[in-house]
Amino acid sequence: MLLDFAKAGGLLPAVIQNHATQEVLMVGFMNQEAYEKTRQEKVVTFFSRTKNRLWTKGETSGNFLHVVSIQADCDQDTVLIKVNPVGPVCHTGARTCFEPAPQEGELLEEQNASVVFLEYLENLIQNRRNNPLEKSYTNLLFEKGIQKIAQKVGEEAVETVIDAVAGNTDRLKEEVADLLYHLLVLLAASDLKLHDVVQILQERHRK
Ligand code: AMP
Ligand code: ZN
Ligand code: ZN
Ligand code: ZN
Repeated sequence: MLLDFAKAGGLLPAVIQNHATQEVLMVGFMNQEAYEKTRQEKVVTFFSRTKNRLWTKGETSGNFLHVVSIQADCDQDTVLIKVNPVGPVCHTGARTCFEPAPQEGELLEEQNASVVFLEYLENLIQNRRNNPLEKSYTNLLFEKGIQKIAQKVGEEAVETVIDAVAGNTDRLKEEVADLLYHLLVLLAASDLKLHDVVQILQERHRK
């Protein structure tokens, strides 16, 4: 990909978008060096105009931006980078730089639309896979591998069936939650996205 760094005095705007949710997360600037580093390391590095140096987003907070894809705009003077963010992108603690900083106690209520929350959870699971955390149950599953994960999906499916047939709706909710979570882990371990599955549903729907 050829970018026109000469046109804008060596700095191009880089639009950072969440690959899973399509949210625009932040905008930064890249010189050629920042761009090459980002491409090679698959983690976003900007040129910070305030720090006047290369700045790997997340270098102190740990909230790195893992690169999924990079594309140029029509005249090669802006880049669009789709990422998996590790945590909130804004230094205010907001999920994106284009939303107001969360008020105390609001952090957990941010993701409310159910499908958006599932994609958020999917993203979080993927991030655990990329940056393992000690004592994380998700990482324990990834370590044990696909067979263990698949077995858990089977168990939660059976528990779901039992509670559904017994008309035990309170337990049913819990078991479906277990099932959905383990399905998301299974998808991640198989390098599939929820989006791939939804696409198949959409294709069938169109028929
Ligand atoms: P980080 O790169 O997340 O480790 O943050 C390091 C420093 O970069 C912060 O203390 C802020 O000064 C700045 N910073 C982090 N995130 C942003 C952002 N989204 N927009 C502007 N500045 C940021
Ligand atoms: Zn342009
Ligand atoms: Zn911000
Ligand atoms: Zn269960």
